[in-house]
Amino acid sequence: MKYEYKLIRSPRKSISVSISNQNEITVRCSWTLPKSEIIKFLDQKSEWIEKVVERNACRLAYNDDVIEHRSVYLNGKKLPLIISETEKITPEAVYVKKVENIEKLYKKECSAAFLKTVDEISDLVMIKPASVGIRKYRGRWGCCDSRNNLMFNYMVFMLPVDVRRYVIVHELCHVLCHNHSQAFWKLVSDYEPNYKELKKRLTTFDFLTQIY
Ligand SMILES: [Zn+2]
Repeated sequence: MKYEYKLIRSPRKSISVSISNQNEITVRCSWTLPKSEIIKFLDQKSEWIEKVVERNACRLAYNDDVIEHRSVYLNGKKLPLIISETEKITPEAVYVKKVENIEKLYKKECSAAFLKTVDEISDLVMIKPASVGIRKYRGRWGCCDSRNNLMFNYMVFMLPVDVRRYVIVHELCHVLCHNHSQAFWKLVSDYEPNYKELKKRLTTFDFLTQIY
């Protein structure tokens, strides 16, 4: 089985393969590992690679309208994205002058309700961040800095409500625990017992953080 892949060599000892949501395959290994060993390794992994590549391809095909900006997600549902002089969100469609303006429109229309939800969840779990903001990120949904200021990617507005709630709980838990240790995941599961499934569903939307 042959794959196109990016090879990253470094002082590491082991070999690993990862596949991005856009189906880019990356192999990481030592400086000296011979090519034949890499091919052997990929052969051993071929069943897994094929499964993931196919799953990603299905999702990317299912979302080609979103990737090509003919549709846009809002609360987990696809709406037609219409280029128009007036900018608005209706139950039928999202209207913007240009694709770049989705950020401004979504922030204007969705921020207040979102911040209220963050507040409510924060009260519920009794974790208080120093501040909460919304901005655009590439490749991430949110961030909690060392001073416990939370920042969320405005693209969380595109997510289904329950997945968005998981992102909020995740970032709030970082106020108490600034890493992804077992203790952190225990905390997340206390407030969101279904977090594993939600986390998995979130990854199916990760491509959104790369296309705007
Ligand atoms: Zn995290």
